Amino acid sequence: MTQTDETIDRQSREQSDMTASHCKELSITLAQFPRVALGHFPTPLEPMDRLSEILGGPRLWVKRDDCTGLSSGGNKTRKLEYLMADAMQQGADTIITQGATQSNHARQTAAAAAKLGMACHILLEDRTGSNDPNYIMNGNVLLDRLHGASVSKRGGGTDMAAEMETLADQLRDGGKSPYVIPGGGSNPIGALGYVNAARELADQAVSIGLKIDALVHATGSSGTQAGLVAGLAAIQSDIHLLGIGVRAPQDKQESMVHDLAVRTAAHLGTGLEIPRDQVRANCNYVGEGYGLPTDGMISATKLLAQTEGLLFDPVYSGKGLDGLIDLVKKGYFDGMQNVVFLHTGGSAALFGYSDTFGLPGYTS
Ligand SMILES: *Cc1c(COP(=O)(O)O)cnc(C)c1O
Repeated sequence: MTQTDETIDRQSREQSDMTASHCKELSITLAQFPRVALGHFPTPLEPMDRLSEILGGPRLWVKRDDCTGLSSGGNKTRKLEYLMADAMQQGADTIITQGATQSNHARQTAAAAAKLGMACHILLEDRTGSNDPNYIMNGNVLLDRLHGASVSKRGGGTDMAAEMETLADQLRDGGKSPYVIPGGGSNPIGALGYVNAARELADQAVSIGLKIDALVHATGSSGTQAGLVAGLAAIQSDIHLLGIGVRAPQDKQESMVHDLAVRTAAHLGTGLEIPRDQVRANCNYVGEGYGLPTDGMISATKLLAQTEGLLFDPVYSGKGLDGLIDLVKKGYFDGMQNVVFLHTGGSAALFGYSDTFGLPGYTS
């Protein structure tokens, strides 16, 4: 080993020790917040070597938050561990939440409520106008009902927060104790789940001696990215975090994420500053709108299913993946060695979009 090699080696060891100690401190801070176990953690961190070889860019990894275990998994499980604990602490017996028709958040909330013996009311907003019977009744909607939630529909553009409050009032009048979870579970309590995920990922990287250069994921109601921004700031990580938007334009998405990251940091109570330039969203992969398939999403989803055996979804992770693949091709990650895609789940929605992929029938 040459002198410079030794120096680099020592520096990276010191860096790892520092990260590990920041992670430990953050764990102690997070332990002050009530949390109920609903999922399987830590989720695996795995290389995607066939995809990396095909694309010829940095080595690509996947953080398997599609494997959180609750009702086929996904990113909402981490948020719900904190939200449902808060609901229990407040003595709630009924959960109310809302989402789009094929909401993964609604499905995981229905499962969490079932597991904790609470009633669950789900309001679904028709954001796509689709009348496809699979979209309306299969996929996540099938699972919402299977978990015993009551499901009702609202037209696109409805003020869903107001609808939830009206329902909460009605339930209170009937003697119930409802707890309202915002769409996507995105508030400072839910975002704690992704503060912890940032810590979990950094700990995993240290334990396998991996230096993560960038972390990419689909961003929607913003709690995932806001939690990651706050968590990475707390452990003083220099990982380049990038959200791929699925709904709002870039300005609006970044403002939403920054606003929630600031409120999440305040909720953590550690006096953490969240610089605006740590919030990056690329919203060029939305296509015609939320929940509407794009060609890029279709080819990315097929490519991953057929090269890595991984299932992504049409609304979120498939569009995020389309962004990742396109940005690798465009050289966005040039000079970086290891890029992690956070798989936020959603494969249950595939069954609500079965005609989207133009798949061949039986061969004979
Ligand atoms: C909700 C969801 C997202 C987006 O997470 P937000 O915290 O709402 O930004 C991404 N992927 C999947 C599969 C989701 O269900």
